[in-house]
Formats: sequence, structure tokens, C-alpha cells
Amino acid sequence: MSRIAHPAGPRHGDVLPADYPPAPPADLNALHPGIWPRGAWRSGGVLMLGGMDVRDLAAEFGTPLYVCDEQDVRSRCRDYLEALGPGDRVCYAAKAFCCRAMLRWVSSEGLGVDVCTGGELEVALAAGVPPENIALHGNNKTVDELSRALSAGVGDIVVDSFEEIARLAYLTEESAARPNVLVRVTTGVEAHTHEFMATAHDDQKFGFSLASGAAEEAVRRVIASPGLSFAGLHSHIGSQIFDTAGFEVAAQRVVGLAVRIRDEHGIEIADLDLGGGFGIAYTEEDKPPEVMELARRLGAIVDGQCQAAGLARPRLTVEPGRTIVGPSTVTLYTVGTIKDVDGLRTYVSVDGGMSDNIRTALYDASYACALASRASSAPPVLCRVVGKHCESGDIVVRHAYLPSDLAPGDLLAVAATGAYCREMASNYNHVPRPAVVAVSAGTARTIVRRESIDDLLRLDVG
Ligand SMILES: *Cc1c(COP(=O)(O)O)cnc(C)c1O
Repeated sequence: MSRIAHPAGPRHGDVLPADYPPAPPADLNALHPGIWPRGAWRSGGVLMLGGMDVRDLAAEFGTPLYVCDEQDVRSRCRDYLEALGPGDRVCYAAKAFCCRAMLRWVSSEGLGVDVCTGGELEVALAAGVPPENIALHGNNKTVDELSRALSAGVGDIVVDSFEEIARLAYLTEESAARPNVLVRVTTGVEAHTHEFMATAHDDQKFGFSLASGAAEEAVRRVIASPGLSFAGLHSHIGSQIFDTAGFEVAAQRVVGLAVRIRDEHGIEIADLDLGGGFGIAYTEEDKPPEVMELARRLGAIVDGQCQAAGLARPRLTVEPGRTIVGPSTVTLYTVGTIKDVDGLRTYVSVDGGMSDNIRTALYDASYACALASRASSAPPVLCRVVGKHCESGDIVVRHAYLPSDLAPGDLLAVAATGAYCREMASNYNHVPRPAVVAVSAGTARTIVRRESIDDLLRLDVG
């Protein structure tokens, strides 16, 4: 994990970048809009989530605790549906956070569900998501996973390799199932936050290369398989993307392929899936455009390019994960120890860490955090919020200004932890994984139970 060491932060004598450390916020108690859940506010100084006092949540459910605002999730689903055309489709990427309650919410709002493993597929089926609204992705789906998807009646299968097409063709020989198949195309476009790269080659494990002709060959094989119904093309260009420029280039290349397919086979694609990857604000420095604006622009790009190519406009699908669930959830921690390293910073240790949020260690991610159990007018102190694991890279928030009167027992809230946190949680150091509690209109209920020591010992059969 070489990234953990970077950046090391200020040392005596180092020349620091002009913007380090970040300036303290004007008001430590302010909840910056766009980072915290839509229903978050302070009542008498105490953070309220979904109408619940965080002190009550901590007392009832313990900490660390993921608190998920159900109405926030639902409102973001509606934003997408409103922004896209009536015939278009939004599929929630379950890998961002997958549990039955979440999949029921998004499904009841009218979204489909993307799964990328047999495990996620079982959760979606157990949640009662209509199988025809489930799409199966993945670069190495096993024969068992494909059989299960076929027998369950999964709506779309996004194929990713020639082996998979052969496996599917074989499996459908004997069965009545005739799945809709999308071909995953790598366009050479890779996007991340502020930049995108558009190359003529594809250096990644996913999908069929457009540049090499593999994508066209994959389409040929799908069309030639009587058991498969060719539905269209799929492209996913990255994550935490803040504008549509990369999507525009990718869409252009995919539409170009759709034209060649029409010319060769006389078939127009019914579905064009541009994947997920829209970004969210983790800190005040992140300024992503509104999702509704991005989704509208994406729709316009597809309209324009299909029109220019003389192609009937296919149904557009987008597959957001992070933008649906990321901002809905706050992690509550209890402050345990506080250590001041003279002249540098203060280390605030909380009762979780890299086992419930690996993103800081893994991606050098930034987060905003706040004292949640009370307001404070004490002056700001530059802190580093760290976990309880035996690893110096166990950092939750690299730079955080917290009030100088912060004390053990205070509750700390870290914002925007809904996506890729509980989902990537581990049992490192045999720390049980926290519960997820859904809050809505002043009520709270557990949707994922906290692990117990019994849970940890259950698999240890030696
Ligand atoms: C990861 C992924 C998504 C979701 O990405 P977000 O960044 O969470 O929106 C969508 N589609 C595919 C194919 C993915 O791999």
C-alpha cells in the first residue's frame, strides 16, 4: 500500500504547498450543503439525521455506525428519472452499497439494479427486485453465475469476453431462456474527476476493445448465437467524474460502432448503456455539477450523436452508484483518545477506521467531518482522524479542523460514506463490521446488523 505514505503531510523543514494545510472553515458547526444528507441539520447544536438525534442513535445502536437517510436516497433516484427521457433507464450499481433494504428502495422508485457477482444477484433476488429489472455485469462471470442468472430470468447480461459469449451460447442451447445481451465496449476513454484520457488503445481488464475490432467481433458472435438476443452496447469510463466531456467522446465512439453494426447486420441497437461514474462532493473543495444537469447533458449528447449518425435513438441507460447512495450516509464514531504532536497536528482516534472506511488508505480519499454530539465555539485545531487498527496508514480523515475542546466520548460524524465504505468493509484486526441504520422522518431501524464476536468466531472452525 505505497499510497498510504503519500502525502506524508508537513514535517519540520519541508517546503509545503501554498495551500497546505487547508484553511480552517469559517464555522466549524456549519454543515456544508451537498456533502451532508439532504435531511441533515443541527438542533440545539446536535446533528440530526432523518429527524433523529445522533446521540440517541449512538446510544441505541452503538458506534461506529453508518446512518443512512432513506429519503435522501429516494430523492436522488427521482432526480435521475426526472432528468432523463421517459423511455430511458436508470440502474443502481449495487456494488456501491448492496443490501436488501437499499435495493428495495431504489427498485420501488423505478430504478433497475446492476449486479456484478452471484452474491449481489442473490441479494437483489432476495430483495424482490423483479428479475427483468436486474442486469448482470462482470469480467469473469462463472458458469454457475450465468446459469443462475438465466434460470432467475435476469433481464440483461452485459458480456465482457469471448469465453463468456461461448458459455452463454452453450447454456442457452438447452434452455428456453433467451437473454438480452449487451456487449461491453472499451472505448479508450478513461475519466476521473477533472480530466479524461482518450487513447486509441485499451489497457484494462474490462470489455471488448473498440480499437482492435474485438467489439465488432463480439457483436457478430452474439448475433450468430440463436439463444442470445443482441440488445445493444455498454460503456463505462470511470468514476468520480465531474463533467460530460469524457462521456461525449465515449458516446461518439460507441455510436460509431452502432452505425457499423447497422451497416453490417441491418440491426439498430435498442440499448445504449453509458455506465456510471458521476462524482459527488466529499469536501468543500469538490464542486460537482448537479446530477440532474449532468444526466440531461448526457441525454442531449446521445440525441445529437444519433441524429448526426442517422440512427434511431436507442434507449439510454445510466448506472449510477456513488451519486445515489454516497451522500445519504454519515458514519458516527466515538472519540477515544486524543494525542497532540507538538506543532504538527492533533491525532483524534475513533472506534473504527480502515475496516469501515478503506477509501482514505486505498485512494487517498478526502472526507469532511464534524463534531456531531454538540456545537462548539472553541477555536479550530488541525487534526487527523485515525482509527484503532495496527497500521499507521489507518487514517479516516487526513486533514480535519475540529474544535479545541474536543474530548473523549464526543461523537464525530464523517460525511458521504454511503458508497464503497460498508461495501468494502473488512474484519481486519477482528473488528466486527458496523451496523447500517436507516433513518426516516424521525424513526430509525437497522437494515444491516452489527457483527458480533460470535459472528467472527462462527467461520473459525479449527
Ligand atoms: C462501478 C460501476 C458503476 C457505478 O459507478 P459509480 O462511480 O458508483 O457511479 C456503474 N457501472 C459499472 C459497469 C461499474 O463498474
